[in-house]
Amino acid sequence: MELKDRIRYIFFDADDTLWENERYFRAAEEKFAALLSEYTSPEGLQQTLWQKQEDNIPLYGYGSKTYMIGMADAAMELCGGTLPEHIYYGIKDIIKNLAFHELEIIDGVVETLEALQGRYTLIVATKGDLPEQMGKFRTSGLAKYFHHCEVMENKDEKNWLELIAKHDIKPDELLMVGNSVKSDIAPVVGIGGWAIHTPHDIVWVHEMMDMPESDKIIEVKEITEILKYLI
Ligand SMILES: [Mg+2]
Repeated sequence: MELKDRIRYIFFDADDTLWENERYFRAAEEKFAALLSEYTSPEGLQQTLWQKQEDNIPLYGYGSKTYMIGMADAAMELCGGTLPEHIYYGIKDIIKNLAFHELEIIDGVVETLEALQGRYTLIVATKGDLPEQMGKFRTSGLAKYFHHCEVMENKDEKNWLELIAKHDIKPDELLMVGNSVKSDIAPVVGIGGWAIHTPHDIVWVHEMMDMPESDKIIEVKEITEILKYLI
């Protein structure tokens, strides 16, 4: 049976699949490095920041608020245990710009969703901070194409199984489209679903993973290419 005859539900990742995201985090890190330039080199700072982010994600989840805690923790350590006022407020300012910027929809997304709408049930599956992700979904202009938006705590196999149970979806009728092998591709194929990888040129270190071997994974270069498998 062809993919288009099996699939009923298409889930789309949001950040760096529907709209640009990671580039804003990289820009925030550059500003953070400038803020702390008298204390450390950009490389040393990056290492400390990554470690602090990894420590905080299990406790506080994903999103810019967790990023702010990680930056404050990194700055505290690099400043020798006291956080100067201008550094703290500098971090707050960086995070405010990170959390509230105009969304930039990725090329090809609108025509892809227009072509798929009505043929499949389309759902956004993102992870992160609830108000932040819902805010992006509502202001994106893309909400009209989707049945709804799921903000997941994480995107591991357990979370995916809970999600499809909630909507009474069978794995074989589920297709996930996303840029992260670790969050969007591997766990969905792991529970018996299908996945299309739409790569983005910037990948967050936390999301890096080799592509698993599976005949249920399709790799494309541009999001519009998914239409040749689905229409
Ligand atoms: Mg993504």
